[in-house]
Amino acid sequence: MATDQQNRQAKSRHDYQPPAFLIPTIDLHFELDSAATIVSSVMQLRRQTAGAALKLDGQHLKLLQVLIDNKQLSDAQYDLSGESLTIPDVPDAFELKIVTQIAPVENTALEGLYMAGNSYCTQCEAEGFRRISYFLDRPDVLSEYRVTIKAAAASYPYLLSNGNKIAEHITADGSRIVQWHDPFPKPCYLFALVAGDYDLLEDNFITASGREVALQLFVDKGQAHRGDFALQALKRAMRWDEQRFNLEYDLDIYMVVATDFFNMGAMENKGLNVFNSKYVLAETATATDRDYFNIESIIGHEYFHNWTGNRVTCQDWFQLSLKEGLTVFRDQEFSADMGSATLCRIDAVKLIRTAQFAEDASPMAHPIRPESVLEMNNFYTVTVYDKGAEVIRMLQTILGKEGFAQGMALYLKRHDGQAATCDDFIRAMQDANRYDLSQFALWYSQSGTTQLTASQQYDAATQVLTLTLGQSTAATADQSVKKALLIPVRIELLLSGNEKQSHLLLLTEYDQVFSFNNISNEPVVVWLEHFSAPVKLQQQSSDDALLHIAAFATDGVARWDAIQQFWSRKVAEVIAGKNAQHVLPPKLFQMMQSWLRDPGDDKALIAELLSLPDFETLAEQYEQIPVDGILSALEQFRQIIADRLQSDFVSCYQQVPVSAYQYDEASVGNRRLRALCLGYIAFQHNSQQLLQAHYHQADNMSDTIAALMASQQAQTDTFKALLADFSQRWNSDVLVMDKAFGLAATQPSEQVFTSIEEMQSHPLFSWKNPNRVRALFSAFSMRNPRQFHSADGKGYQLLQYAVAKMDAINPQVAARLITPLLSWRRYDESRQQAMRNVLQVLADSSSLSNDVFEKVSRSLS
Ligand code: ZN
Repeated sequence: MATDQQNRQAKSRHDYQPPAFLIPTIDLHFELDSAATIVSSVMQLRRQTAGAALKLDGQHLKLLQVLIDNKQLSDAQYDLSGESLTIPDVPDAFELKIVTQIAPVENTALEGLYMAGNSYCTQCEAEGFRRISYFLDRPDVLSEYRVTIKAAAASYPYLLSNGNKIAEHITADGSRIVQWHDPFPKPCYLFALVAGDYDLLEDNFITASGREVALQLFVDKGQAHRGDFALQALKRAMRWDEQRFNLEYDLDIYMVVATDFFNMGAMENKGLNVFNSKYVLAETATATDRDYFNIESIIGHEYFHNWTGNRVTCQDWFQLSLKEGLTVFRDQEFSADMGSATLCRIDAVKLIRTAQFAEDASPMAHPIRPESVLEMNNFYTVTVYDKGAEVIRMLQTILGKEGFAQGMALYLKRHDGQAATCDDFIRAMQDANRYDLSQFALWYSQSGTTQLTASQQYDAATQVLTLTLGQSTAATADQSVKKALLIPVRIELLLSGNEKQSHLLLLTEYDQVFSFNNISNEPVVVWLEHFSAPVKLQQQSSDDALLHIAAFATDGVARWDAIQQFWSRKVAEVIAGKNAQHVLPPKLFQMMQSWLRDPGDDKALIAELLSLPDFETLAEQYEQIPVDGILSALEQFRQIIADRLQSDFVSCYQQVPVSAYQYDEASVGNRRLRALCLGYIAFQHNSQQLLQAHYHQADNMSDTIAALMASQQAQTDTFKALLADFSQRWNSDVLVMDKAFGLAATQPSEQVFTSIEEMQSHPLFSWKNPNRVRALFSAFSMRNPRQFHSADGKGYQLLQYAVAKMDAINPQVAARLITPLLSWRRYDESRQQAMRNVLQVLADSSSLSNDVFEKVSRSLS
């Protein structure tokens, strides 16, 4: 590692100390100026710990003044070393005034107050408030905020902050001054300020108890026609939370601002959500079905945070999953109720099996409640969010929907207005249900992916079925000893004559046997139905049994899962040299054929059943990832299916109804199945015409993208022409150009390197915009396994270049980009070498951010 002047000190969960002071009220005053914004902060402080000095966090601030009870402090009365302002000698209760100056225009990290084009925008989670003013920047210090914003009236018609607007006027010299008051005490990470000129969409919502809430959506000028879907989704989310959890919105106004400059998806600031515009703006011509789905789910997610996150927040950042795991679970349940529950679940399972399993197997492995953190930004992970949501889902599976809802009600009643912990949550669930969750709580402290083994034995004479389950969790980078978890294993028994039985098995031991009497014949067992726990399943079932499940299980997710397992097995056999001819059972083709000939109502599910697992899912089943083996087996099988069922794909493609674009479950399913067929048809030499027709006849972005992807994956000549046409047509629309960047970056051919080079000089590409960088480079490193893992190491070098360049601009985004390199130990010798080399180059650089440093150093150690 390069010598390090910075103090890089990881924090431990166990070192938590309550704050030495509380700050019950804060009065903030902003005079906006892109190069020199003046922030005055007037706070009431109350001592909690005798004798303690006051130590406030601050970064990149120019301190202009400090006053205690209206008396200015001299330089000798405080200390400004490190990233804090320390005042050794303060009274027990006092007023503190701090005036600072900041430069939003220089803020490319997009944390704190920054410029998003011509607008001002803030992002304070996790520790961005310290870039605005000196403060106790920690989630357990809750304050009531009053905010005054001043800016040039003509350029800034909208000056927004949290809560209710209490005053607005324009001064003689043309300044606009707006005042806001948020009656709900909140931690500073939920503070927000936005200033700009926007198109405004307005609506309202009447709550269950009859209160009217004004809804306002602010989007960039000219984008109003793309805002309606998000606004409607918000109303659906508000209604859903009332109906499902009895939770009503609490303020009189709810504002959402869409910005093109944002590090993440969106942010739940109290009463003033800030969204990445990608998750707000949609119209038929520009947004895919997936975009619509994401918008609805993220609008829901941020809204649901109002209770799980804002009304009850986190004691410290180690508890992040308390709000995020729970809120992801809530948004998943919402999405499931709004559309296809099966498809939602399949998407969630895919994410766990790819990114989350990969994280568990990486140097960054951590429990959903991390134990040690250097840079908090690095812990907004699939483990905390999505495995966190799986843990909550298991609770609901164990306690039942009703019991879970009662636990939620108790949790919110007990902790409303507080900063709580994961233990508090578990305790509420436990008390509301009188159910001992002490073993279950291990899911919060144990990292790694558990392996579940499952086998069955049937005794025809006694009619007893014996099921044996076993669990083991391998050591992870952060933790060597693993205990037995409480794992809910849902099963379905498929008996002869269409008879079915469902059971919930609670595995609490390393090995456990479950017996069932009066089972009249040997059943096929569906294990882990609906993915009832986030584990890896090893089952003994025969190929035949898997295909039987794919055909007959009640749960669509289980059907999909069985066929995924079947394919993993086939790929593994090929890699192990056991099936060089890629032989597949006739039964498989018969089944696929019957689905294509009679897809029934759930066409989206049929499309999933006809899909091969993706590279990333398969990769997670190997300790050492056989990159070339997986890719080539997948390619072979894909071609075999495409050839064998050629005419069925064509006739299914022709039979699925096409109608004018609508975003609803049935139409989404139709498009998905047609796209699936097109994807296979593209592997026939004579497919060019059909691909072009699909592209040119498309009246919506989903179909357009389907044609582009099909022609891209099959490496047809058509792709180049279509992408050129697409890029030309949308060359002034950033959100659509992101799709073009993504398509360029995921080409399976070597051409990708030239294309990425070219795209970097596109007028709309900018290193300062995270969406653009992700569209090009995350797409390449995470969705283009063939070229990213190119044997000559070119892919790794390209990513290193992007990470280094980005780290100087936006460390948080740079650190996300680096993820695929961290697991270098899981590849073959020569790839290991190539990956380690580029990591070492990064490690040797003298100016690494904490964000990238934490990951690189863990990876190389
Ligand atoms: Zn969240």
